[in-house]
Amino acid sequence: TSTIDTAALHDWISRFAVAMNDNREWLTELDSAIGDADHGANMARGMAAVVDKLDAGAPETIDELLKGVGMTLVSSVGGASGPLYGTFFLRMGMTAGAVPTLDAASLATALRAGLDGVVARGKAEAGDKTMYDAMAPAVDALDSTLAAGAGLAAALVAAADAAAAGRDATRPLVARKGRASYLGERSAGHLDPGAASTAILFETLAAAAQD
Ligand code: ADP
Ligand code: MG
Ligand code: MG
Repeated sequence: TSTIDTAALHDWISRFAVAMNDNREWLTELDSAIGDADHGANMARGMAAVVDKLDAGAPETIDELLKGVGMTLVSSVGGASGPLYGTFFLRMGMTAGAVPTLDAASLATALRAGLDGVVARGKAEAGDKTMYDAMAPAVDALDSTLAAGAGLAAALVAAADAAAAGRDATRPLVARKGRASYLGERSAGHLDPGAASTAILFETLAAAAQD
């Protein structure tokens, strides 16, 4: 596929919701080491609310779909991750616009806007041990793989691989943002929970684009 339509993005959101439910305990375990043991619950609850909303009526344009996802996450998740993922989807939707389909370049631009929204909201920088450390490499890999001439599906696999590598690279880091930063040096030696959920976000996007 060289483009992605509203149905494919809806499939992404559905897959991400299933994965947040399936990985709930693992994400909570990661958050219990360096946070307050609720990341799995936060993400599973937020994405369950998103699915309920989409089941009640699926939007036809990409901006409506993604803005609805973002607003639902902001309003249903109390933790830091709600506003951050919420802003990601809101900005992504605003940038995508009221269209039924995105080509590869437009999808990459929308994802980059989502990343910029996370930064505007949370002020994270590379190496702070946050979701940014999985998200930024994913968006960079998407851009560079597309620029090298890859198709959309292959470029999204490269983005997912970069997100997973970014997640793994958070393990030795000392957290400088969010709750984990309260632990100082003791935050080193554990994966960041938000980077782990973000790697799943890009893995499910790649999966949705394969069909
Ligand atoms: P809370 O920390 O409020 O309990 P969650 O546990 O759901 O919220 O989410 C924690 C995750 O949020 C962290 O693992 C990290 O990836 C991410 N996070 C926290 N603060 C920031 C920030 N300022 N910028 C980017 N990501 C952040
Ligand atoms: Mg937490
Ligand atoms: Mg919390």
